Amino acid sequence: MSVLTVRALAAFYGKAQALFDVDLEVAAGEVVALIGRNGAGKSTLLKSLIGLVTARGTVEFDGRPIGALPPHARARLGLGYVPEDRRIFADLTVRENLRVGARGRAPDLQALLALFPNLREMLDRRAALMSGGEQQMLAVARTLAAKPRLVLLDEPSEGIAPIIASRLAESVRAMKRQGVAVLLSEQNPRFVAAVADRALLLERGRLVGSAAIGELSPPSEAVQRVLGV
Ligand code: ATP
Repeated sequence: MSVLTVRALAAFYGKAQALFDVDLEVAAGEVVALIGRNGAGKSTLLKSLIGLVTARGTVEFDGRPIGALPPHARARLGLGYVPEDRRIFADLTVRENLRVGARGRAPDLQALLALFPNLREMLDRRAALMSGGEQQMLAVARTLAAKPRLVLLDEPSEGIAPIIASRLAESVRAMKRQGVAVLLSEQNPRFVAAVADRALLLERGRLVGSAAIGELSPPSEAVQRVLGV
């Protein structure tokens, strides 16, 4: 059963078209990666799904069309989104950020700390005082506090230390085991190899193929071409 079905998605910035005819599906509990270089349209695709970019086409979440709904309504249905710039509340503590994520209800701290064990000792620390990698974990944990069924992660490994990236990869795999589906964008094929069930290649606003996990680390020629490396 697919949790997300996208058909003929096109996205626009004014008159400029940034996505063309995108079809994709994410099954319940599946981790799917979008791979592409800067400007390929990865962020635009995730923003179109949460409703932050003007788009045409069909987006179904749990079998229900959501393309006309504003972002907060999509979030309330169980679609989580972690933007590239994370947007955690720097002046709030970790605990307070998680409470905001749970939308006023008490967050399930035990479950969240099981996924992100290193946040436990930082619960009362202001987010501004955490490293970039720790803030990324908090951003994902805060989104999970709302108990989404699918989380959109925009370049989660960007700008974080490799050791933290491998911890984050572990957290994403644990999310999957708990039945949360993930659609993430990445330029780091090793991170994708560590977390994803499958990978889709995005080039100039179009899905141009897929890559087997075995083609990612080391990256095959096709993967290198899409990444421009
Ligand atoms: P990055 O890793 O740099 O975020 P990306 O693959 O996520 O790359 P997008 O940010 O989705 O790529 O950009 C896709 C295309 O849309 C690019 O040509 C970009 O210049 C354009 N674009 C992105 N944001 C805007 C905007 N706010 N206004 C106009 N054009 C935009």
